[in-house]
Amino acid sequence: MSSIIKILPDNLINKIAAGEVVERPASVVKELIENSVDAGATEIFVDVEQSGKRLIRVTDNGCGMSREDARTAFERHATSKISSESDLESIRTMGFRGEALSSIASVAQVAMLTARQGEPTGTMIAIEGGTLKNSGDAAAPPGTAIEINHLFYNIPARSKFLKSAATELSHIIDAVSHQAMARPDIRFRLTHDTKPVFDLPRSSGIRDRAFQIHGNELTENLIEFSGGRDSVRVYGLIARPTYTRGDRTRQEFYINGRFVKNAALSHALYAAYADLIMRDRHPAGFIFIDLDPALVDVNVHPAKAEVRFRNQSQIHDLVRDVLREALGSHGRPVRQADIGAADGGQGSADRVKEVVVDFLSSARAADGADTRTSPLRFDGPPLSGSLTARAELDRPISALLYPLAQVHDSFIVAQSNDGMALIDQHAAHERVLFEKLQDQYAAGQVPQQDLLLPVQAEFGRGEQGLLKEYLPELRKLGFLVEEFGGGTFVIKAVPALMTGADARQLLTDIVDELKVHGKSGRLDALRDEVLSVMACHPAVKVHRRLSMQEMAGLLEDLFACRMPHSCPHGRPTVARFSMDDIKRMFKRI
Ligand code: ADP
Ligand code: MG
Repeated sequence: MSSIIKILPDNLINKIAAGEVVERPASVVKELIENSVDAGATEIFVDVEQSGKRLIRVTDNGCGMSREDARTAFERHATSKISSESDLESIRTMGFRGEALSSIASVAQVAMLTARQGEPTGTMIAIEGGTLKNSGDAAAPPGTAIEINHLFYNIPARSKFLKSAATELSHIIDAVSHQAMARPDIRFRLTHDTKPVFDLPRSSGIRDRAFQIHGNELTENLIEFSGGRDSVRVYGLIARPTYTRGDRTRQEFYINGRFVKNAALSHALYAAYADLIMRDRHPAGFIFIDLDPALVDVNVHPAKAEVRFRNQSQIHDLVRDVLREALGSHGRPVRQADIGAADGGQGSADRVKEVVVDFLSSARAADGADTRTSPLRFDGPPLSGSLTARAELDRPISALLYPLAQVHDSFIVAQSNDGMALIDQHAAHERVLFEKLQDQYAAGQVPQQDLLLPVQAEFGRGEQGLLKEYLPELRKLGFLVEEFGGGTFVIKAVPALMTGADARQLLTDIVDELKVHGKSGRLDALRDEVLSVMACHPAVKVHRRLSMQEMAGLLEDLFACRMPHSCPHGRPTVARFSMDDIKRMFKRI
């Protein structure tokens, strides 16, 4: 019997590989730019026509190729970047599999002009459907220009899968933007149908590059951060919690300069913002992780768009912690002198505002007194909210943010040293209670208060199981709840901070929270959800008149918090108006 198994011809193998590596025009753009980056280019020009279907041309001023290399480059598995298996552990280049050029050349008409630095003549090569059509000497500037014409001309089926011109173009713009974000030191220019899309000059760093690509509105809301552990460095830009988006765009991760998607990293980003933004809003950030290439496998996806970490959960926790600290230490101590300097003109109004916020959050720490653990001072009969009442305060909040009045028994009006602020009293008090509960829990003892009369609460079948499972954790949170039978539970004690709350309603709300998050969440994330439910109960409601002392106490406690700017549900606690804002409202500037 004759054999029926045969080895596929190279051309066919390349075409099959192209199915994985070259999904759409943007994939070609990505691969070609990566080659230019690897060639050490400082300028990369990308020109596309008809969203890349008609033409993709990438021109660089990199190292170029010799005549011989120019031909070999299009062979399958031809690469100059690795030569042995051990090299796989230390990849610092974008490419290493030697697949891109051979794959691309098998599904398009390719022309390349390349010359090595310092060599007078270069090489011209033309390839069609994987077959060499032409090659020879040609005059060429140092570097490489490669032109991909009529992508997928020989696989019409693939052409049909392409999306609208606008969609394909947007993928191309994304591909160039990602590479540009990873390498601010390289100039990137993109044109479509000969019209400029952008031209990004070499810039001084990621903030500048973010500004060039994404403009001012996003960039002015980004906080720069950096941190790390051992040899892993995590740095970049993340949006202030007050700036959120309606979708997941502008959440970008770069591992050793490579744009990647990774579920653990996304999760870490959301975990960092957990109690800072509303559930249906999304954070933004450009997060860079540099680490030993041996700790990450980039060889798990044909286009290297996904990566796998050797120790996924360690990286997750590190990223979350670094981001968390950046968001929290947004209130890092600033001295009076710094504020003066920021006022001095070089800083924008925004920068000044930022410094004041920082100062306010740290002012109390600088005061030396620690009233964090003291209860809120809701004592004394409510005073009428008169403006002169400010004189009655024995000690204004470090003279930087002092209450002036209360509006509609719901919002506190306060003066800051560069303008004024409105504080949502309920949100502010929730934040204060939330962090107190967190601290008590972390210290291992949430003070408990026995109820004089135990309170009964009934739960349905599905809820009983959830609650029973959660009873030990509830105990740690300061509750004493026992099962009575028949779906009835008895609440015998509650956390001391919850004494004023309706115990039955509180437990019901916690169970509701367990229903929503109990199955998916990790225990620590779930705990914060429960703590935020708890904090909401005894928090000062809207429509409650506060005395000046109470307002001062609340502001003081709020700015002693780690994350004073939002309530645990992510709503803002403070709205600020600088004098400039106010003057602008009255057309004085
Ligand atoms: P890989 O990037 O994985 O090595 P490619 O198929 O993308 O594989 O490229 C093959 C080889 O061609 C590269 O290893 C490199 O030596 C050479 N090459 C490709 N593009 C360029 C370029 N723009 N400048 C210089 N050399 C290049
Ligand atoms: Mg490559």
